Amino acid sequence: MAPAILLGEASPKDDIANTTAETTKTLDIIKEKDVGLMHRSLIEPPHEVVSASGSYIHLSSGATILDGCAGAAVAIIGHGNKEVLAATVAQMEKVSYVHTASYVTSSAEDLANFILEIPPGGFQHGLEKAYFCGSGSEANDAALKLGRQYFFEQGQLQRKWYVSRRQSYHGTSVASMSISSNLPRSIPYQDILMPNVAFVSPAYAYHDQRATETEEEYAGRLVAELESEFQRIGPENIISFIAEPIVGATDGCVAAPKGYFTGVRQVCDKYGILLHLDEIMCGMGRTGTYFAFEQENIQPDIVVIGKGLSGGYAPASAVLMSKKIVDVLKAGSAAFNHGHTYQSHPVTCATALAVQRIVRRENLVQRCALMGILLEKMLIDAFGDCRFVGNIRGRGLFWGIEFVKDKATKETFAPSQHFGYNVQQNAFKLGLAVYPGAATVDGVRGDHVIVAPPLNISVVDLGKIVRLLKEAYTQEESQVA
Ligand code: PLP
Repeated sequence: MAPAILLGEASPKDDIANTTAETTKTLDIIKEKDVGLMHRSLIEPPHEVVSASGSYIHLSSGATILDGCAGAAVAIIGHGNKEVLAATVAQMEKVSYVHTASYVTSSAEDLANFILEIPPGGFQHGLEKAYFCGSGSEANDAALKLGRQYFFEQGQLQRKWYVSRRQSYHGTSVASMSISSNLPRSIPYQDILMPNVAFVSPAYAYHDQRATETEEEYAGRLVAELESEFQRIGPENIISFIAEPIVGATDGCVAAPKGYFTGVRQVCDKYGILLHLDEIMCGMGRTGTYFAFEQENIQPDIVVIGKGLSGGYAPASAVLMSKKIVDVLKAGSAAFNHGHTYQSHPVTCATALAVQRIVRRENLVQRCALMGILLEKMLIDAFGDCRFVGNIRGRGLFWGIEFVKDKATKETFAPSQHFGYNVQQNAFKLGLAVYPGAATVDGVRGDHVIVAPPLNISVVDLGKIVRLLKEAYTQEESQVA
């Protein structure tokens, strides 16, 4: 049996947190890249929005912006939907708030039933209950606690470890940041993050798959690495493995190689470790299936969703838990030992339910899958031969374009070049919003932009996104000697 790991013992996170050289390098990158340590500058004012409808945002400057990324892959039904407005007002008229310790409202129950319902012939996801909160960070925090409680109820108190992946983003709260590996966001806080988190390699074929290995062999190598990390920590000490089925913000719409998630599921099962999937960005239809994990043909133990759950009409997220977890809680303390003031907020739930009803009625998930085929073709036609476009990848209406300095060697641009950032800024000046790529672990890889429009975007607007983005890219390309 592998030795038990004591808190404070060296962990892979030390590679990042305790390596002065790495930290210094990252700080240099932050300075060079001007990413800043804060989300919004205290000096530069943001763009003021006066109204938004459909796929368009109107600014106080008079400019109109085509929302090619639905905010941060949030606005799945576009902006300004009157049906959602009416449902929100109607719920406010009925009951705007009650505390969930004593009460429940039909809006929360109906939303839970609606999103967990499996339509005839639908994917058997195995999820049984939903816990609603406000943000993706909160949902991931709750999911980490849920995993711990699942083992606590079974007397497995030694299980304290979480395993996550490098180049991952799961939120900004202390716990969700602890399972993330996004240095520009976490650098001031490295010393206060949870110590009991280990990291394994991301699934990032474009850079990491060896020329000599097949996709399946690459997946097998990653799964073997995960298993050996489990053994290093002692699998009996681990609560869960956390991953995004399609990595959004850090990598830019990167799906795992074929066979990766089935391998991950098997290894987790072998040691009784929970599989916690983060679908905050890639879930709710965004990739052409309701849950992105459906395309991996696995059943997770815990799933977190957000963004598209309410399409941005209210701050909403959820932790979805499988029967296995619910059964243990029912047999034990009979409650998830968690909760906060605005959990299952009646108005938030009514709003999200209205959004989800529209998604189902208008077949937006199926439409997303079809429009995704079109978008893929448009992107490949427009960017496939471009000098600095290294990789175009994604699923459904969730696509990333990665820029590299040299397509043959995949050498990245120097951070000081701001290539992807400049493309995004050029696009904005042309009236198009795309989501910028965040700097990743070494601050260099993942120089990308994300296209993730509302799922009901028109074909004409989809074409316009690709055309404006190409123009923005061409402007930047011409700046490079
Ligand atoms: N998880 C993933 C995969 C995300 O993309 C995000 C946000 O971008 C989060 C979690 C955190 O969500 P929030 O910003 O709502 O706290």
